[in-house]
Amino acid sequence: MARYRESVCRFCRREMQKLFLKGDRCYSDKCAIERRNYPPGQHGHGRPKHSDYGVQLREKQKVRRIYGLLESQFRNTARAAERQRGVTGERLLALLESRLDNMVYRMGFASSRAEARQLVNHGHFLVNGRKVDIPSFRTRPGAVVEVREKSRKIPAIEESLKTAVRRGIPEWLEVDEANFKGAVKALPTREQLPPTIREQLIVEFYSK
Ligand code: SF4
Repeated sequence: MARYRESVCRFCRREMQKLFLKGDRCYSDKCAIERRNYPPGQHGHGRPKHSDYGVQLREKQKVRRIYGLLESQFRNTARAAERQRGVTGERLLALLESRLDNMVYRMGFASSRAEARQLVNHGHFLVNGRKVDIPSFRTRPGAVVEVREKSRKIPAIEESLKTAVRRGIPEWLEVDEANFKGAVKALPTREQLPPTIREQLIVEFYSK
């Protein structure tokens, strides 16, 4: 998979809001948004002007970066949402939230989605008792995600569980930290996801 090698804090600065891409650093005063809350680059101090298209593009880029997807992956997810019944924007968010790497992050087994993706890739998780090492694996309500027995001493997982309370475990998940397990009670409703995401703009972006 292609990788972005520059500082991901630039993504937050571009959107001028915290996207929480770097784990615990995002909650500290080292966060780039706390220090330099203006867009990166030579013209960063200028007031950005966006056309309708520009606003839609920025929203799409923001959400794509929050979930850490490449453009093709994100577009395919948006297309899959269009094919489902219901409100397309809400379906898109539900599909993004149902990814295994997102679940691992939300349950507190990783401090960021990037870390979660790496842990999943390395085969440290079971879903319903079976090893799954595909970050895009779609978890469904009732699924149980578990750290494999031999992976429970991994420092990144132990550290992450210690700070999970600060990040907050969503109410639509149930986590049993002592047994390194989490269950998906339901996929989140729109009201349970951040109001700062304007998914309708993303739908409009891809409808052109
Ligand atoms: Fe964004 Fe986290 Fe970097 Fe702050 S520390 S700018 S929230 S990635």
